Amino acid sequence: MTALLEVSNLTKDFPVGADFLGRPQARIRAVDDVSFALARGETLGFVGESGCGKTTVGRLILRLLEPTSGTIRFEGTDITNLPEAEMRPKRRDLQVVFQDPYSSLNPRLMVRDIVGEPLKNFGFSRSQIDQRVAELMRIVGLPPEYVSRYPHAFSGGQRQRIGIARALAVSPKLVVCDEAVSALDVSIQAQILNLLADIQAQFGLTLLFISHNLAVVRHVSHRIAVMYLGRLVELASEEALFERPLHPYTAALIAAVPEPDPATRGRLAVLPGEIPSPLNPPPGCPFNTRCPKAEARCRAELPEFREVEAGRWVRCHLPG
Ligand code: SF4
Repeated sequence: MTALLEVSNLTKDFPVGADFLGRPQARIRAVDDVSFALARGETLGFVGESGCGKTTVGRLILRLLEPTSGTIRFEGTDITNLPEAEMRPKRRDLQVVFQDPYSSLNPRLMVRDIVGEPLKNFGFSRSQIDQRVAELMRIVGLPPEYVSRYPHAFSGGQRQRIGIARALAVSPKLVVCDEAVSALDVSIQAQILNLLADIQAQFGLTLLFISHNLAVVRHVSHRIAVMYLGRLVELASEEALFERPLHPYTAALIAAVPEPDPATRGRLAVLPGEIPSPLNPPPGCPFNTRCPKAEARCRAELPEFREVEAGRWVRCHLPG
């Protein structure tokens, strides 16, 4: 598979506070030197605790935020600093499904107009829009005759189906799903995850699936990237990651996933402590304040993100 998206050394700082002249008092590094590639037709899961930078990575790729440094290449073109006029046609290929199906749909618009909005923006005629919206409703499992209803008439799961239909409207190449099922009940989550997996397989879509929930990420992802305090700490296929996590943080996340089998449940220690403040990250390995394997070197030297086996990347002095 060829790479659809290549991200190299992506970094994003946010200013914090301001003095009387409006100058920032400090900077938080939300994303730090993140590199990965996403193949066409692949689903890459991005997982980590709240505040680890995964949502910022998604927004940088969508060019909703400007990076501090690094490069984003989409279909071989460097889009990192592309002016908006040149970026606009590319936006058709880059779509997003947001977390909250209640606030992400305009309550004053009918479903026909919500789903049809991206088509209208790209110059489709009214009849083309109506035809495509009906097709999209069927794809996401909603009756096409519901297009004249307003969002309040739908359940949370149905609203997220509408959000997915809108994201698919202009046949994008890459869809970023940002905590796309987190606001839904567990039973509804499974239905939406199955829908996303079906759509991905049917249309060969490429998905970047961002979630704090590793069990959810596992359900849909071919490969999984684990983030901690703004950095990637492990990247591997879904099978390899769950079979033999190489980073202690990944191991702790896996231990926290509810196991159906009581014999294996809780076999690894659950992670102690809080994620450190990105304003004051620990020296050396960012995970050393919570890591059961930490030794003197971990507190002094930042481990590199390196490929330890074919396709397996890890940032740890003592992997495995
Ligand atoms: Fe733990 Fe050290 Fe590896 Fe960091 S480098 S994850 S502290 S063993």
